[in-house]
Amino acid sequence: MPPQDREAQEADPEGGLSPVAAGNGGRVDPKGIAFDVDGVIADTMRLFLDIARDEFDVTHIRYEDITRYNLEECIDLPAEVIDRVIVRLLEGGYRAALNPIPGAPAVLERLARRCGTVLLVTARPTVGPIAGFLRGILPCAAECAEIVATGSYDAKAEVLLERGVTHFVEDRLETCFALDAAGIAPILFAQPWNREPHPFVEVSSWGQIEGLIRWE
Ligand SMILES: [Mg+2]
Repeated sequence: MPPQDREAQEADPEGGLSPVAAGNGGRVDPKGIAFDVDGVIADTMRLFLDIARDEFDVTHIRYEDITRYNLEECIDLPAEVIDRVIVRLLEGGYRAALNPIPGAPAVLERLARRCGTVLLVTARPTVGPIAGFLRGILPCAAECAEIVATGSYDAKAEVLLERGVTHFVEDRLETCFALDAAGIAPILFAQPWNREPHPFVEVSSWGQIEGLIRWE
C-alpha cells in the first residue's frame, strides 16, 4: 500500500477511499452487488488462527503471515494440521468466535433495507455455521439474506449470472479473474493473501464498499 493510502486509511479506517475505489464511487446498483463470505464479511482467517491455538497449540503464526490463499504455501504448519483446523472451521463447534469484518453488518443491513434482500455466495461445501454467524450480525437474515454454498470456486460465476449480479466482492484473486472472464465485475477486498498486481477495483474497508454503491 502506498504511504499516502496507509495514512488515509489510518486517519479514516471506514471512510477512506483508495484512488481506484474513489474513481468508481457511487456507480454500483445496490441490487446488482453480492458478496463472498470468508475474508470479506467474516474474519475467517482469525478464526483459523484461534482454532489452531485453542485446539492444536499453535501460537507462532500471525495474520500477516497468511500471504497466500493456499495456507500450505505460506504458513509453517503440517498439511494435516491445516486440514484439521479447516474441517473444524467448516463444521463448527469451536470455542472461539467467528467475528464480522468491521463495518460489514451495518452496510449489509443498509443494503437489506434498500433492496429487501442481500445475496452471499460462498465456495464452502455447505452453509454450516455461517447461517448462525449471519443471524448474529444481521437480525433480519432469515428473511433478508440468501446464502448460496457452491462447493467450488468455479461455480460462483454461474450462480451470480443467474441472479443478475453485476458486481461481486471477493478476497480470492484467482476467483476475481474467473468472474471477470465471465462478465461479472469483481471488487477485490484487500487481504494479506491477495497482495499481487491486478486490474480490478480494490477496497480495504466496508466504508469503501458503501462508497461504491449508488444509494439514491
Ligand atoms: Mg473468501
